[in-house]
Amino acid sequence: MKNAPIAVDFIQNLPQSSNPRIVIIGGGFAGLKLARKLAHKPYQIVLLDKNNYHQFQPLFYQVATSGLEPSAISFPLRKIFHKTSNVHFRMAEALSVDSTAQILFTSVGKISYDYLVIAAGADTNYFGIENIRKNAIPMKSVSEALYIRNRIIANYEEALNTLTDDAAEEMMNVVIVGGGPTGVELAGALAEMKKSVLPKDYPELNFDLMEVYLIEASSQLLNGMSEASSEKAKEYLTRLGVNVMTKAQVVDYDGQKVSFKNHAPIFTKTLLWAAGIKANHLEGLEEASYTKGGRLITDRFNRVSSYQNIFALGDVAYMSTEKYPNGHPQVAQVAIQQAKNLADNLLLWRKNNDVSSGEKFVYKDLGSMATVGRKLAVVDLPIIHFNGFFAWITWLFIHLMAIVGVKNKVFIFLDWAWNYLSFDPSLRLLIRPRKVKQEEVSELLEPIKNPS
Ligand SMILES: Cc1cc2nc3c(=O)[nH]c(=O)nc-3n(C[C@H](O)[C@H](O)[C@H](O)COP(=O)(O)OP(=O)(O)OC[C@H]3O[C@@H](n4cnc5c(N)ncnc54)[C@H](O)[C@@H]3O)c2cc1C
Repeated sequence: MKNAPIAVDFIQNLPQSSNPRIVIIGGGFAGLKLARKLAHKPYQIVLLDKNNYHQFQPLFYQVATSGLEPSAISFPLRKIFHKTSNVHFRMAEALSVDSTAQILFTSVGKISYDYLVIAAGADTNYFGIENIRKNAIPMKSVSEALYIRNRIIANYEEALNTLTDDAAEEMMNVVIVGGGPTGVELAGALAEMKKSVLPKDYPELNFDLMEVYLIEASSQLLNGMSEASSEKAKEYLTRLGVNVMTKAQVVDYDGQKVSFKNHAPIFTKTLLWAAGIKANHLEGLEEASYTKGGRLITDRFNRVSSYQNIFALGDVAYMSTEKYPNGHPQVAQVAIQQAKNLADNLLLWRKNNDVSSGEKFVYKDLGSMATVGRKLAVVDLPIIHFNGFFAWITWLFIHLMAIVGVKNKVFIFLDWAWNYLSFDPSLRLLIRPRKVKQEEVSELLEPIKNPS
C-alpha cells in the first residue's frame, strides 16, 4: 500500500446509514468471509479491493500449467453482494490511514470509518535480492499465474527456433524455488506436462533436454506438514522426474543463470519464485505495530496493537498464542476462522455496546494437504496422515467445495474430468494483452486529471 494519497475527495455514492461503518481492505479469504458474515446485519460494510474479483490462490498453479482458465478460479465480488443492501463494494487500492481522524485514503478517494479491518493479504518476498525481484516470476495473483502460462508456452515456441542444445535447454528448463505446497504442486504439474503434453505439441524438440528443478533451502519439502508427507512428496516428485534439491540456497538470478551458495549454477529462462511472502503494508500505522514479515501485531481479538478500532486478519495478522508463539500459519483456514470470530465479536459489541467482551480467537487446525500430480497427493489430518489416490480424491473434493460460485465448481469439475480422461489440458493458448500506446493512456487519464 503506497504513500501519499492522490484522490482527496470522499468516495461518492455511499448511502447514509445510521449504523456504524466497517471498512474492510481486501476481498480475499478473510475480507470476503467477514463481509458475508455481516451481510444483513446492523453495520454498513464497505469492502475495498484493488481487483473487482476474489481469487482462489490454491489453484493458481493449475492456471500456470494450462489446467484451468483464470475465470474458473476468480469470482466477481459485486455478484456476491447482489442482494445485500448493507454491503458496498469499491474497486480501490488502500493507500494510507489517518487513525486519529478515522479516515482511510484510497486510490478513488478517502473514506471515514468506525472500524477498519485490514485483510490485504501478502505479496512475494524476494528477501532483498534485487536481481531475483527483477528476473524471477512470482505467483501471487491470477494475472501472474497467467503470465507464467504465457511465458512457458512462449519459451517452447522460441526453443523450436534455437540452433544449439544449450540454448534450447535454457528455454525448456524450469526452476522453481520454494518447496512449500505451491512449489511442490507446480513442479509436479510441470513434470506431468513434460511427460504427456509438451512432446505432443512440440514433436521436433528433444525433451531429454528439459529438466524441472525444485529448490528448497531447508532440509525438507512441505515444512509444516508431517515428516511422512514431506518424504512421500519428495518420493512422488522424484518418480515424476523432478530434480528435488534440498539444502540449496539461491543467491542470484540474472535472467539466465541461477546461482547458488552451495551448488553449481543452473541455466534457465524461467525461474518461478515461491520461496516467501511478506504482508502488504498500509502507510500511517505506528512502526511498533509491525513485526517480522511486515505483519501487524494483534491481540486475541485481532485488534491491531495500539489501536481500539483497527483490526487485522489472515496473512497480514500476527497473533502470538501459546500454541502458535510465532504467529499462525499464513493459510486460508486461519484467515477464514479469524474473520468468523471477528464477525461474531462485532455483532456482540453492537448488541452490548461494550467492546471489552467477546471471544478470543482459537485456531482449529483442520489439517493440510498438497497434491503432487495425477492420483498423487499427501494429506495430514489432525489424527491421521495418508497419501496416494485417496489423498488425491480428498484434495480434489476439498478444493472443489471451497471454490466460490456454482458455475466455477461445475467448470472446474468438467476441466478436471476432461484432463483426467484425456491426459491433455487444452488451455495452452498464448493470449497476450495488446500493448497500450502512450496516447491511449493519456486519453484514459484525461477525465481524471481535468474533471469538467
Ligand atoms: C500460489 C498460492 C497457493 C496457496 N495454496 C494454499 C493452500 O493450498 N491452502 C491454504 O490454506 N493456503 C494456501 N495459500 C495461502 C492462502 O491463499 C492465504 O493464506 C490466504 O489467501 C490469506 O487470506 P487473506 O484474506 O489474508 O489474503 P488474500 O486472500 O490474499 O486476500 C487479500 C486481498 O486483498 C487485496 N488487496 C491487497 N492489497 C490491497 C490494497 N492495498 N487495497 C485493496 N485491496 C488490496 C488483494 O487483491 C486480495 O484480494 C496459497 C497462496 C498462494 C499464493
